[in-house]
Amino acid sequence: MNPRRAKIIATLGPSSNTIDVIIELIKAGMNCARINMSHGTHADHKRVIQTVREASRKIDREVAILLDLQGPKIRVDKLSSPLELKKDEDWVIGASSVQAQYKKYKDRFIPTVYEQLVSDAQVGARILFDDGNIEAQAIEKDGDILKIKIIEGGILKSNKGINLPNVKVSAPSFTAKDEEDLVFGLENDIDYVAISFVRTADDIIKVQNFMKAKGYDIPLIAKIEKPEALENIDEIIHHANMIMIARGDMGVEVGNHLVPAVQKDLINRCNLVGRPVITATQMLESMISHSRPTRAEASDVANAVWDGTDVIMLSGETASGEYPVQAVRMMAQIVMEAEKNPKERPLLRKQKLIGVTQTIQVAASLIAEKIEAKWILSVTETGRSCFKMTRFRPSNKVLGVTKSLQAVRRMCLYWGIAPFYLESKGEESIEYQMIELLKERGLVSRGDKVVITHGRGNFFEEGSTNLVRVEEID
Ligand code: PEP
Repeated sequence: MNPRRAKIIATLGPSSNTIDVIIELIKAGMNCARINMSHGTHADHKRVIQTVREASRKIDREVAILLDLQGPKIRVDKLSSPLELKKDEDWVIGASSVQAQYKKYKDRFIPTVYEQLVSDAQVGARILFDDGNIEAQAIEKDGDILKIKIIEGGILKSNKGINLPNVKVSAPSFTAKDEEDLVFGLENDIDYVAISFVRTADDIIKVQNFMKAKGYDIPLIAKIEKPEALENIDEIIHHANMIMIARGDMGVEVGNHLVPAVQKDLINRCNLVGRPVITATQMLESMISHSRPTRAEASDVANAVWDGTDVIMLSGETASGEYPVQAVRMMAQIVMEAEKNPKERPLLRKQKLIGVTQTIQVAASLIAEKIEAKWILSVTETGRSCFKMTRFRPSNKVLGVTKSLQAVRRMCLYWGIAPFYLESKGEESIEYQMIELLKERGLVSRGDKVVITHGRGNFFEEGSTNLVRVEEID
């Protein structure tokens, strides 16, 4: 049973989508596999989802699967060859569909797949290419094209991203491609869905309603990467099931110098209301090509844990890097070390308690702490009661015991909860079965105390945890 509390998401890609590597990633500490819908086909993704499930079955360790939707990512279209953009040069940008009409700019035309770029961007707007490595400014509109001046030059390749900070982008947050990708994910047994470039709470509600209409209730992660999202952050936190601090695009949009402060602020806001939060991007970036991280990267991971993040995420390190398994192992080691010196988080303990389940879970956490219990066993149908416990940051180890595979997978992302799948033999003896299992596995011994919570009557009944008791192992 892994004693690590903060959880790890690893993005799968060409370096990591085979069964052997996925098994190693799980053993190294991956709690959730992320599938990035910005790349690949549905057939590729289906194969990867099946491979993750097969890997879990083989080593009897479940992980969650997160489908990360691309959102309205604006990109450069296909180029016949890379373009060299030099400082102070004038270029034009416009939709690929109008390129043929502007022959006089044929050597200076940057085509984009985004049809509304020219109508959205005003003269004076900053236009960033390739994660902000190339910067330009809009100087004049001419019909369907925008004349731009290069401020920071570089080589621009096909399909590179375009960011328009502080431009009100009219493209919907949930695009037609996202819709198709989400339907694919729902039909293929995903556990979480993330939406990109969220701007308002409405963006979240639309996707939640879309899923509801199709009969699904999948937790939704809002990726915070736009300045507009920061303006509406409290509403977004209220409506989303989880928040992801998507530091990659955020750094491009708001500037890297602001990212650390935004990260701390978002984690704090999420902690205060008990909303789980993921810190993402470039956490161990140098491990894409080196077997060890830099000191700064190790500190970044540890500081995110001390800030109070619930989850940390790897992207290129595991998707396309040379050392995917080492990156997960290293991340897990850094987290474990950081967790040996937990930061006091008194605010979490001052949370308002709403409802019986939450109160019982908090009481269980306090009892466990006071009597130095070896484990808290929280018997749950959907994982919801464990979700309520995790917001209180219990200091004891918690087993989220359930007979639902879906709940096991969801709990993989809950801070401090080790999900435990129990194929119960007779409902009345679940506690007994669990304690016998812990004994068999050497996880408890004589004299140890175990705090147990569950609902009245049916142990796995949904939404009704109202019982807490202490068992002393004989
Ligand atoms: C990010 O921008 O930090 C991020 C997580 O999103 P993506 O990897 O989809 O660009």
